[in-house]
Amino acid sequence: LVSPLVMFFMGVGQFVQGRAAVQRVDELARLPQEGNESADAAGPVPLGPLAPHRPAVEFHDVRFAYRRGKQEEKSQVLHGVSFSVPARGLTAVVGPSGAGKTTMFQLIERFYAADGGRVQLGGQNIEALPLDTVRGLVGYVQQDSAAMRGTVRENLTYANPHAGEDAIQEAVEMAGLTSVIANLPQGLDTELGDQGSGLSGGQRQRLCIARTLLQKPAVMLLDEATSNLDSDSERDFRDVLRRVSRQCAVIAIAHRISTVIDADKIVVMEGGRVRATGVHRDLMEHDELYRRLAGSQLHAEPGVIAPATGPVRV
Ligand code: ADP
Ligand code: MG
Repeated sequence: LVSPLVMFFMGVGQFVQGRAAVQRVDELARLPQEGNESADAAGPVPLGPLAPHRPAVEFHDVRFAYRRGKQEEKSQVLHGVSFSVPARGLTAVVGPSGAGKTTMFQLIERFYAADGGRVQLGGQNIEALPLDTVRGLVGYVQQDSAAMRGTVRENLTYANPHAGEDAIQEAVEMAGLTSVIANLPQGLDTELGDQGSGLSGGQRQRLCIARTLLQKPAVMLLDEATSNLDSDSERDFRDVLRRVSRQCAVIAIAHRISTVIDADKIVVMEGGRVRATGVHRDLMEHDELYRRLAGSQLHAEPGVIAPATGPVRV
């Protein structure tokens, strides 16, 4: 029984406590194979042979219900969800509000455990991994920029205070912020105002990505902001996703067609089920809901998507 408030503090703790050991991007590949999971879940992870082509995340018939109230009344949210996410590349998750997208992220972070079926990280049952390992492997890009006070550097490193200068530069570069920071009066040591004022929405978003990159995650979860980015920022964001997804598995809950169009794999969710998976072109052809979701974004990308009827909130 975990209340949303407790969950919130679990999330904060994840960022505040820092990490004893920096996890490498390729650590997933060294996790033990299924079958070794009877090992003590609280003990150290025995490292297996390199297997870089294993999926980063797998859901096998995952069922989940939030428990609420004293009667343990349940509301089923995921009804047997199955899909897999390759170790590299961009996987976009789309679906109407309430489809279960955020819940699915919470199971990958292990804020909650599945009631049935299995969630796997790097081929390993997530329940058999130490929580620290899960939190080290899975990076979550916070959309909320309310915490953006202090300097740019402090914003980048508060979860990893011992990050070296090279690592910071690398993360800044990957997040497309090198020239942005070079143009700030004090560079990395420029104070950001409340809410990160001084940076545009798109720049704040990329600062959050850079912060998460310093964690060297194997899986980056990104719950895309619904607010519109200007077209320059949108293009910068796509470039960043392309670069980052060469190094780790990026899973984005996508609200903008410009993010989805580039995805290596798209998972369409509806009512707690995976309705379809594929790439943009196939889904446009074969999935009515996807066409409608894409069509509701038409104004953002004129000419890219064929018109469709009936707006659906993504
Ligand atoms: P999406 O991200 O696709 O909009 P969510 O995963 O947030 O969907 O929500 C799926 C369903 O689970 C919704 O019906 C929502 O009301 C319910 N839900 C989400 N979070 C909770 C919670 N903490 N407790 C109870 N029900 C929840
Ligand atoms: Mg959501």
